[in-house]
Amino acid sequence: MRSTLTSCLVDRLRTGDLKWFCGRFQQYAFLKILRRTGRFRRSGRSTVAPLVVTPMLTYRCPSDCPMCTLKNRRPDAKGKKEMSFEAVGTLLDELRAMGTPGISYAGGEPLVREDIIDILRLTKRKGFLVSLTTNGLLLDDRKAEDILSTGLDMVWLSLDKVSEPDYDAFRGTRAGCGKAVAALRFLVEAKRRRKARTRIGISHVVEARGTGQTRAIIDLADEMGADTIALAPLHRFDDGKVSCAAPGFDAGAFRQLISDVRRRCRIGLDSTKGYLSLFERAFAGVPPPCDCLTGYTMLLIGPYGEVFPCAPYAMLDKSYGVYEPRRLAGLWGSPEFGRYRKELMACRMCYWNCHTEYNLMFR
Ligand code: SF4
Ligand code: SF4
Repeated sequence: MRSTLTSCLVDRLRTGDLKWFCGRFQQYAFLKILRRTGRFRRSGRSTVAPLVVTPMLTYRCPSDCPMCTLKNRRPDAKGKKEMSFEAVGTLLDELRAMGTPGISYAGGEPLVREDIIDILRLTKRKGFLVSLTTNGLLLDDRKAEDILSTGLDMVWLSLDKVSEPDYDAFRGTRAGCGKAVAALRFLVEAKRRRKARTRIGISHVVEARGTGQTRAIIDLADEMGADTIALAPLHRFDDGKVSCAAPGFDAGAFRQLISDVRRRCRIGLDSTKGYLSLFERAFAGVPPPCDCLTGYTMLLIGPYGEVFPCAPYAMLDKSYGVYEPRRLAGLWGSPEFGRYRKELMACRMCYWNCHTEYNLMFR
């Protein structure tokens, strides 16, 4: 994560936008100082905007992953509508005014939205660092071109298995693996054709007994020319709880794999050393070693306006409330949200990569 963040920041620096860059440095320093002085714990209030906001544009998805709780959530059946293009624009204006630098689109599968390219283009035009996470099942050559034409900074392709039967069992699809691998090829080729600076990353879920699959995915992504790969332990959601606990993790083999990748692969490892060293603990069911700062760093907005503090809470459908246009800054800065932040800090339920990486960065 830090390497991807750093390259996005370096790219931004190249554009000569020093004012923007100083703003980010201030934000980082402020969070670090709050953490060091213990102010995080005392008040729970935050005067800095979330660093990344994830608009979950839809719950619709062509996959049917057994561990996913989003795909069955269809409030549209009750007459609610997914956030419109105009509503996304209003949200972006609010976030820009608040000082949020990064927007990370996710779903469901965001490519089911017909206006996704317009949304990406609009978000870049408004000056954000932009990323998109997709499972690639709806991505063809043309779509890859369109996505890269928006100038976004990062595309994350979820890829967990390299064989068709394994992939289909994991993602609940038919012949999905071939499509996901083809999507990676389309993205890499489109990037080369356009000489785009967009980074193409693989987001890969590691299973306790699945180090062999992880090795195969890394080799494939490396061979095909992806820029980076992010790893995360598989999380399961049961009874309102999140857990990675699973038997059979071979920590030695995993360490060996990581050291091989660093030594012999061209592809970058997006996950930090500190984060990867927590996998043994995660699979053993031991809680993470640090406070959770997601209440300071991130926010997710569901397709029907649900406000979630983190991805696992979104998976558990535990929202803080509902987003009301032009009231987000008020919500973020309110004493109530401050108290909620303090509760979140004590949570030790997950090892979700983006949240845990930020927790390690500011600890
Ligand atoms: S690809 Fe993502 S959103 Fe779709 S079913 Fe799987 S986990 Fe859920
Ligand atoms: S540890 Fe943090 S990111 Fe994970 S579920 Fe708890 S509040 Fe969410």
